[in-house]
Amino acid sequence: MQNVAILGATGSIGKSTLGVLELYPDKFRLYAVTAHSRVKELAEIAKRFNVSLAVTSDPSKLEALKEALAAIGCNARAEAGAEAVARLAASPEVDIVVGAIVGAAGIVSTFRAAEAGKKLLLANKESVVCGGKLLMDTVKRCGATLMPVDSEHNAIFQCLVGETERSREKARIILTASGGPFRTRKDLSDVTIEEATHHPNWSMGRKITVDSATLMNKGLEVIEARWLFDFLPERIDVVVHPQSIIHSMVEYEDGVVIAQMGAPDMKNTIAYSLAYPDRFTAGVTPLKFSQIKTLTFEDPDLNRFPQLGYAYEALKMGGSASIVLNAANEIGVEAFLEGRIGFTDIAVLCRSMMYGFQPPAPTTLEEILETDRQARELARAWADGYSEHRRD
Ligand code: NAD
Ligand code: MG
Repeated sequence: MQNVAILGATGSIGKSTLGVLELYPDKFRLYAVTAHSRVKELAEIAKRFNVSLAVTSDPSKLEALKEALAAIGCNARAEAGAEAVARLAASPEVDIVVGAIVGAAGIVSTFRAAEAGKKLLLANKESVVCGGKLLMDTVKRCGATLMPVDSEHNAIFQCLVGETERSREKARIILTASGGPFRTRKDLSDVTIEEATHHPNWSMGRKITVDSATLMNKGLEVIEARWLFDFLPERIDVVVHPQSIIHSMVEYEDGVVIAQMGAPDMKNTIAYSLAYPDRFTAGVTPLKFSQIKTLTFEDPDLNRFPQLGYAYEALKMGGSASIVLNAANEIGVEAFLEGRIGFTDIAVLCRSMMYGFQPPAPTTLEEILETDRQARELARAWADGYSEHRRD
């Protein structure tokens, strides 16, 4: 029996994880769950899975969480604050940490889980983007096991299993991208919030759905792949594959390409990460090829979706460029979702920040957090100024 903690249990990945854990009550025990503000929902999950600990990362929600737990007769202990989430990630009670928090808010708990040598199922791509080599070194040094839950990276992991160091060195990663909802739309300047928060193939949280619409998500995934698999950016390609059946591929020196396919359902990647090196059912309906009929591929359009290009530029620039790009994007998406800036302004903000703020490469977690904080402050000032200007 292994004890699991889900950080971000009320989110899209959190719920998919619950769906898989429910199938294996004899293998996994859900020990603890966290959420930011939806404490009622958190309490219901705590009760349903009989967890020992429920944590809200918002310190002002502790009383509300306690009340919600008491109201449904759940005996789980309640804690609050980002530090409580970080503590949980390193708790000796926990064997497996599922990192399903959205955004840079997940960085500290990812590092804590890595430092504590946990098995870490990591969906929070922003912590790989910001943590980079420092995170991967920590994983190695502390004997942690990092299983990528992002579908592309989980696919690449599967395509690389069993290959020698030498064959990996010569291989290329081919990341697939759905192309998002605006793949064929010419003018993106008038995209609405409603349009940008609906993805054609995947049902996900709001932030990543907007990232998929700008292709920033694919950009973040290029950076994520660079660090997770130690591939140079020159050996990472992106191809648009609107059906989202192939989740990514690896091309080897001999020209052979290994692709991983499956239904677009995150339960697949979560189940694989839990079961590895074994496999077990994920509770997902398998593909029916006769119904899919066609798989198509095209190059991404970097003119309409410049943020994908910025990710490659950030890797080339080095330093803290990826942290700055990620922070600018998070603030940009937030401002867009609040109706303060337009859809294409997110890219303008990312570009201004990447070229306007170039701190050196971080050498500690504290430096990563400080750069993220400073970048957010600058990006917020930019977005505020921009929305003032739009109102005039
Ligand atoms: P979501 O918005 O549905 O859920 C986010 C979770 O994080 C919620 O439980 C929320 O309470 C918690 N949270 C929000 N702000 C927080 C904060 N400041 N501190 C602590 N917790 C906070 O997001 P999601 O779609 O589940 O995505 C989670 C992560 O997984 C993201 O990094 C995303 O890029 C990645 N991911 C998601 C999918 C997907 O299919 N949804 C696929 C690949 C990768
Ligand atoms: Mg993905």
